[in-house]
Amino acid sequence: MKYCKKCLYPDTKPLLIFDDEGICDACKAPEKKEKIDWDSRRKDLATILEKYRSKDDTKYDCIIPVSGGKDSHFQVHTIVNEFGLKPLLVNFHPRDLIPLGRKNIENIKNIGVDCIEFTPNPHIYKKMEKFGLIELGDVNWPEHVGIFTVPFQIAVSYEVPLIIWGENPQMEYGGPGGGMVMDKEWLEKYGVFWFDKIKPTIMTENGINIKDLKAYNYPSDEELKRVGVTGIFLGQYIKYDIDKILETVEKIGFSRNPEAKEGTYTDWENLDTKFTGMHDYFKWIKYGYGRATDHASLDIRAGKITREEGLKLVKEFEGKIPEKYMQDFLDDMEITREEFYKIVDKFANKELFKTDEKGNMIRDKNGNIEKLAYDNN
Ligand SMILES: [Zn+2]
Repeated sequence: MKYCKKCLYPDTKPLLIFDDEGICDACKAPEKKEKIDWDSRRKDLATILEKYRSKDDTKYDCIIPVSGGKDSHFQVHTIVNEFGLKPLLVNFHPRDLIPLGRKNIENIKNIGVDCIEFTPNPHIYKKMEKFGLIELGDVNWPEHVGIFTVPFQIAVSYEVPLIIWGENPQMEYGGPGGGMVMDKEWLEKYGVFWFDKIKPTIMTENGINIKDLKAYNYPSDEELKRVGVTGIFLGQYIKYDIDKILETVEKIGFSRNPEAKEGTYTDWENLDTKFTGMHDYFKWIKYGYGRATDHASLDIRAGKITREEGLKLVKEFEGKIPEKYMQDFLDDMEITREEFYKIVDKFANKELFKTDEKGNMIRDKNGNIEKLAYDNN
């Protein structure tokens, strides 16, 4: 495992590219962002929005998929208050929403917008969560599919061609997909559309019908073409600066979560669901890095902390079993703690963690495993 010399990203991070000097491409993002003419991008955005603004009073101007987080607040605020559009919000409900998540969603609606809250069948959702946990090592997986499929379905049925997404993760966190359009091609490359391939397995194993999975289907090419559905990332047109975004959204009532510091040291992201910590934990066991690394690396690049300080934060916060909702999680998934450890063993990259002579991972009294190296030697 090799770490970026500037930030703390490891080369195990999917799609991350390193240069000859050992610097990752996420570290080059701020430089690239500085070179962008943001005033001209903003004008481009205004042109796009004008083009798609509905000339028909019975239709919405655009769709904005929202989770309720800071980015959702920022998207809606920008599109409504700065550009004067009438969007239709689409929220895909996870099963494990916490009260703070609910509060933030209600707050977004109070910007003055219509919102569709789509609640998937909880029985099917739970089966998919369990399948995701055991077969893919990702319990939040039905949510990762649904947040993409449902907005496209609603765009088709309401005949609203433009979908406005938030930041482009490839642009902010590194990777090759820094393009301007967010469409089926992007999703197939960087999103979750390998789902179609495993669908038959899920159905047979869980005795569920194809119609039960309707929420998780992407519309057909014909339907998308008929409406002309396309998507853009707001982050390609408006400079995303986390501090400025937080300042803006807190003014309009976004709530942070002071208790969210499980797996990371910040309080502004992934606040809305119970099991998000579990998702982060599995990212850590698979790739050897988690959300503290994401956040510390952002802060290092922004010059807020040194690499050394970042490393300290990562060691302190990352890679521990998220205990806060652990019992709820085990009860909900109907597994024991020992069964949970077996699932962890199945997905952990054993090369990254301490093992005994038999190759089994060594656990401390709390069940935590230990990483071999946090930095380049
Ligand atoms: Zn880097």
